[in-house]
Amino acid sequence: MLDKMHIWHPAQQMKDGEVFPPIIIDHAKDCYLYDNEGKEYIDIISSWWCNLLGHCHPEINAAIKKQLDTLEHVIFSNFSHEPAIRLCQALLPLLPEGLTRFQFCDNGSSAVECALKMAFQYQLQIGQTHRTKYMCLNSAYHGETIGALSVGAMDLYARLYKPLLMENIRIDGLDCYRCPYHKTRTTCQCECFEYAEHAFDLHGQDTVALIVEPLLQGAAGMRMYPPAYLTKLKELCAAYGVLLIDDEIAAGFGRTGTMFAIEQAHVSPDILCTSKGLTGGYLPMALTITSEKIYQSFYADYNKHKAFMHSHTYAGNPLACTTAVEVLKILNRDQVIKKSREKALYLHTCLKNRLKDHPNIGEIRHINMINAIELVQDKKTKKAFNSTRRIGWHIFRNAMKDGLVLRPIGDVLYFNPPLIISKETLRIAVEKCATAIESILPY
Ligand SMILES: *Cc1c(COP(=O)(O)O)cnc(C)c1O
Repeated sequence: MLDKMHIWHPAQQMKDGEVFPPIIIDHAKDCYLYDNEGKEYIDIISSWWCNLLGHCHPEINAAIKKQLDTLEHVIFSNFSHEPAIRLCQALLPLLPEGLTRFQFCDNGSSAVECALKMAFQYQLQIGQTHRTKYMCLNSAYHGETIGALSVGAMDLYARLYKPLLMENIRIDGLDCYRCPYHKTRTTCQCECFEYAEHAFDLHGQDTVALIVEPLLQGAAGMRMYPPAYLTKLKELCAAYGVLLIDDEIAAGFGRTGTMFAIEQAHVSPDILCTSKGLTGGYLPMALTITSEKIYQSFYADYNKHKAFMHSHTYAGNPLACTTAVEVLKILNRDQVIKKSREKALYLHTCLKNRLKDHPNIGEIRHINMINAIELVQDKKTKKAFNSTRRIGWHIFRNAMKDGLVLRPIGDVLYFNPPLIISKETLRIAVEKCATAIESILPY
């Protein structure tokens, strides 16, 4: 009741609360959430894609408690501490080649803002003063602050704010399920890359940086595209002196089967943003990581005014750093990512066997454990449902009644579970998902 009177929840129409009030979660363990009446839910979406190792992990909890009694927070400008240093040490060998310098932020959008400013100032400081634009891909999502919205391409989040946003250069074409060249995932030769070539032809010389979500466009509906496209983008960026910003906020930390998604394209970005999985879903923290070359362009005598004047109050929070170090330790020690690849095959097979013949399921696509089930009105033409019918939302509600958190993106249902989820829990989740779909579709 007090929730209804005062709390404005993120990214939802509050009026929906009249028929579907928020569920009060009391506690959580592993892949399960428990509400205040003791009802159990499988957290198949990793609490907004951030939980990697399950809720209330005993080792992570212990590490935080220990740090809490040592140092909870300190200013990070002119000061440093062990947890931050240890985090950089632990991450260095896991990063794409050439990334060595870390800026600490406190959420994903801030990490993107930091990357945009860093890229711009770098270009200025090497004399590329005419470069003022950014490029992004079709359906890109990079966060919801004004700068991050500006380099996105999703009207759902940006349309209203257009008068406030910087104009970006949008590279069209990329849409593998509804390929404009009528290719399939197996016959694709990155035909749509000609859109990128065209954009660089026109604007490459004026562009500061291109920002991409590697392999996986999460907010767009768990869209997936091949590594070859990313490899080609990096070549194009290098040829035009455009920096490549790799937004690994959703894709990083093993979600795509490798530590970072861009590894699969065998290239390194100029700047890499990470958040979400960084602390295993425990605490808000983000990193914007760059190369020695970019860092050195800021390194000068004080009076040259080349310092990067960017800060967040909670930058480098020791509790968050400690958490991230512990997460990396467990990921490595328990070979969590390697093991997730085997479970991913099991999950995809289960979903396909159970649902592939359903008349309203257009595609079940996957990268590692992430599986997206795209619901369509017509399988042949791939025609979407009228969005006013809110098919995905109705399925979500029925799945919740049955104890599965299947929060969709429009009419795309997805699994993006903690990497440590068991096969047995996956099997149960697939059955609950299928039951929820069948409760609404077909009709
Ligand atoms: C979630 C996300 C962001 C924004 O992160 P916040 O912490 O929610 O601000 C940016 N980029 C991608 C790819 C994301 O998935």
